[in-house]
Amino acid sequence: MTNATTYRVRRALSEAEMISITAAIDAATSAAGIVTAVLRAVFGALVAPLGETLDGYGPDRKLDPRDFAIPEQQWAAITEACLSRADAFGARVTIAMDLLNVLPATYDDPSAVVPPRSAVDHRPYEHVLTVSREAADVITACAQRCDALAQHFGEDSPEHRDAARSWQRNLALLFSMDFGARTRVTRDGDLSLLVSCGSGFTYALIFHPVQRRCTRDGCAAVIRGDGTTWTYRSGDPACADRQHIPAYPLDAPAPGSWSFHS
Ligand SMILES: [Zn+2]
Repeated sequence: MTNATTYRVRRALSEAEMISITAAIDAATSAAGIVTAVLRAVFGALVAPLGETLDGYGPDRKLDPRDFAIPEQQWAAITEACLSRADAFGARVTIAMDLLNVLPATYDDPSAVVPPRSAVDHRPYEHVLTVSREAADVITACAQRCDALAQHFGEDSPEHRDAARSWQRNLALLFSMDFGARTRVTRDGDLSLLVSCGSGFTYALIFHPVQRRCTRDGCAAVIRGDGTTWTYRSGDPACADRQHIPAYPLDAPAPGSWSFHS
């Protein structure tokens, strides 16, 4: 830990200061407003006893957050208040990133006061999810692929379990409000979706099929559904007799899993 003497201000915030900081955060009316509010409230409080105000800082005299330190648990409470307020704008993830380098440093002080706060759910009342009809078909096709894998490889096969688990996890993410309360889902491929969130964040849920490789020793061939083969590079070794053994049958549904791409 950095030596305490290097900080301009290193102290616990008072209970009144903590209450006024969290009130300022709760009053923010946009995601960007949260960052502005917390910076003004925290550093305004910290520089006040120095006889300064934030008006004295600007492009010519920058305020360095690392010149200040507050107790760890007060830092955590302020951060949590920001993340909770960010739920109102579906901005929890972006606010977490934004706060990384702008808050004061921390130090250990078990006696510092953290006023109790009632848990408030800042999320909008409902999540409005718009699904294009093509995307609705993709969602049906994804569920069907999981069923087909269970049928072909068995309910307890890794092929079925990997696909079903990844599909469930990503479907739950689609319904969650982590990225906002207004979400648009469109098609991004036979088994893939594009998701545009109210917060401006966009991500894709993409199905990655397991390639049907040849399992014979020393063969690098990948086998297509029609039985034809290819290799990544033209000189790669492949079975000279062309009697490839596919990792899974030609008529089987391709196993694979869905993953999140931002
Ligand atoms: Zn082969």
